[in-house]
Amino acid sequence: MLGKKKNEKKQYKNYINGKLIEPESGAYLDNYNPGTGEVYAYIPDSDERDVAAAVKAAKLAYPEWSNTPAETRSRLLLRIADIIEQNLDMLAAAESEDNGKPVSLATSVDIPRAAANFRFYATAIMHQSSESHFMPGMAINYTLRRPLGVVACISPWNLPLYLFTWKIAPALAAGNCVVAKPSEVTPRTAFMLSEICEAAGMPAGVLNIVHGLGPKVGRAMVIHPEVKAISFTGGTNTGREIAKLAAPMFKKISLELGGKNPNIVFADCDFPKMMATTIKSSFSNQGQICLAGSRIFVERPIYERFKTEFVAKTYLLKQGDPSSNDTQVGAVVSKAHFEKIMHYINLAKQEGAEVLLGGNQKIMKGRCANGWFVEPTILANLPYDCRTNQEEIFGPVVTITPFDKEEEVLQYANSTEFGLSATVWTSNLNRAHRVAEKLEAGIVWVNCWLLRDLRTPFGGVKNSGLGREGGWEALRFFTEPKNVCIKT
Ligand code: NAD
Repeated sequence: MLGKKKNEKKQYKNYINGKLIEPESGAYLDNYNPGTGEVYAYIPDSDERDVAAAVKAAKLAYPEWSNTPAETRSRLLLRIADIIEQNLDMLAAAESEDNGKPVSLATSVDIPRAAANFRFYATAIMHQSSESHFMPGMAINYTLRRPLGVVACISPWNLPLYLFTWKIAPALAAGNCVVAKPSEVTPRTAFMLSEICEAAGMPAGVLNIVHGLGPKVGRAMVIHPEVKAISFTGGTNTGREIAKLAAPMFKKISLELGGKNPNIVFADCDFPKMMATTIKSSFSNQGQICLAGSRIFVERPIYERFKTEFVAKTYLLKQGDPSSNDTQVGAVVSKAHFEKIMHYINLAKQEGAEVLLGGNQKIMKGRCANGWFVEPTILANLPYDCRTNQEEIFGPVVTITPFDKEEEVLQYANSTEFGLSATVWTSNLNRAHRVAEKLEAGIVWVNCWLLRDLRTPFGGVKNSGLGREGGWEALRFFTEPKNVCIKT
């Protein structure tokens, strides 16, 4: 896979100190199109030397950027949001080609959200104020909130530009300088973001983007002594590694990790709405969403109806070339990930699953014949505590399980090591409140899914993460409070 730089295909560059430059090693990694299984570009195979150069540039830029008025920072971030929107179609096509997701999804969700992330924090920073605590007759305290310095942002491949910018925007808005690494599996829109930053007039060194492998580039970012905080989204095991490395250096860490989210369907729900949303929460982005409702629990009186309609409607989803406008289910992101998903489907069969739909590789014709496609797969008859129901598969694979009692489904729902999100479908308001309160999750959706208000705290409990993103939470993470007490 590793190779020297090759000229015939697109070759990305690192963005360091305001310049697009080659990695120190001169080596490149293959970048695949999951829809066709072909190498279509090359990614810098960077190492700790590139990280050191990026951190040095960020450190040099920090005094000026951190003292730049909030309004100026805000204007720059708004310009970036505008340029993203002006290039919506090009960015969406690139995201689809790089990730395998349907182009309609990238156009309606991924790229608009990337622009929204910049706009949200560009405006939030204009309204940030510090706290003050008055002690009558004695003193007044005020809290200064200053940026941290150089911070690292590391993101995964499932929502590439969406999640990359969800970290970068608040870090920059708060006045930090950033060294960021996108997933080596989906580097393309991060590279395009560096070109957008150039066009927007980003001062040199304020944002640096280093491409390459996690254990080489990501690790070097985490252990660099000048990096004060790490905002990471990715797998639970990688998060654990990062926590181990960062702890002895007392770095701030924010970890957004894996999930195995329950989707709980009570018999009194609005059935058509629940069904339409459950199809999305199961198979959008080929199930490669940390918030996907991959364990569906259905109250017994409607279990048979649910099963029949869910299978029939999923069967109608159009799986195809990610670049076609009418495709609803595309390719999974890589060969390795394809193999992981197929491994889990085989495991489910060994565990006694009844395969209600799918369960195989989807064989495509034409230009996608060698792409990595998995049929939307619905499994039943599995115990709630088997591996298929406990481990994150992160593909178009869901299980359905009947339940009789509220306490029983809460036990099922809370039984995994994860606690990211949960969905509850019911028209009983009291039950909705009661169940939401008892679910072990950072986010609970009642009668909806993935309805996001960027002001709300976002993150997981248990092995789904540490800390919260979103709204003021992210601005607090990317700043250090200092209390000043003045005797009156
Ligand atoms: P991953 O952990 O393999 O990689 C994530 C990022 O970390 C990549 O940029 C990778 O290069 C880097 N990395 C890998 N090893 C590293 C190391 N030792 N040190 C520093 N960086 C390292 O995850 P992935 O496969 O890209 O993404 C899928 C996972 O992400 C799933 O588990 C999914 O649930 C999770 N995810 C969570 C959220 C959330 O908000 N909680 C959102 C999206 C995805």
